[in-house]
Amino acid sequence: MKYVAAISISIVSALLSGSAPAAPPAKVRARQCAAAFNETTSLRARVGAPSPEVLNAYRESGAKDVGPHRLTEAEWKTVDEAIAALPRLHRDVLQRHLRRISFVNASSGGGNALTSPAEPACGEALFDLTLRAGLLGESLTAFLNGKEAGLFKADGSGTTVQIEAGEMRAAPYILLHESTHIVDGVRGLSRRTDAAFRKDVWDAERSKALATRFAGNPVNAIAWRGGARLAIGDAANLYRGLRQTPFVSLYASVAPSEDFAELVAWQQLSARWHVPLRILVRRADGTTAFEYKPLQAPAVRARLASVSALLTKSN
Ligand SMILES: [Zn+2]
Repeated sequence: MKYVAAISISIVSALLSGSAPAAPPAKVRARQCAAAFNETTSLRARVGAPSPEVLNAYRESGAKDVGPHRLTEAEWKTVDEAIAALPRLHRDVLQRHLRRISFVNASSGGGNALTSPAEPACGEALFDLTLRAGLLGESLTAFLNGKEAGLFKADGSGTTVQIEAGEMRAAPYILLHESTHIVDGVRGLSRRTDAAFRKDVWDAERSKALATRFAGNPVNAIAWRGGARLAIGDAANLYRGLRQTPFVSLYASVAPSEDFAELVAWQQLSARWHVPLRILVRRADGTTAFEYKPLQAPAVRARLASVSALLTKSN
């Protein structure tokens, strides 16, 4: 109903003013943008070269040797499997709103994946998705450990942090996480301040602020939230802090949209592939300083269920 109303108002106002029609309302523009490409093209047929802007974004993220990547046969298989494994809602939304999937050669340590609006004028209607090609050869466990290492600095303590997520490849997780950003962008799920998953976790007013009950939690000050790298000897304390929150991962604390993408990705990985998730902090002598399994924490499980219900409802 709302959609029809927006179109009618636009036509009426143009007729009344007698001048050239003004820029169409967002929803009309969204439909024009979506109509500008063939929705029936298979998702794999949308694999194409990255734009110069995307390549620049990778360079600016600190990656070196950045350039377009041509998929090998083995990589195509990984991509096809990851697309096929997406939930129905994700595939439907991508079919209508994903313009291009690109792969870039880039050193690790910079950006991994980028979900970006295809054209500024198209807003949330059309997206490009770009992945660092090296991810296609990585296991989920190796990927998560490489990413988490960016939070810590060496301090001579000999402490180690290990994330265990089984033998699965990284690609299905990354495609789930990134395509959830597109589902979210189109449906506005994480922006809805009344969404159940936000309650008592995110500040209702300030978009990336945690609820006040987490003000003193070390999670609030991690490098991904703008803090400094933490001495790795303090890792156990940080993960004790994580256990006080209902976040499924530290990355989920970056913003409501990342919280949502992480919840959806882990809900799927856990329900469909029974992927375990264990965080292990060890002392220099190899003994365990702290162990945490977020997928078994009641507060996390409650939110996985609420996100699962939200996805079903908006399907
Ligand atoms: Zn993300």
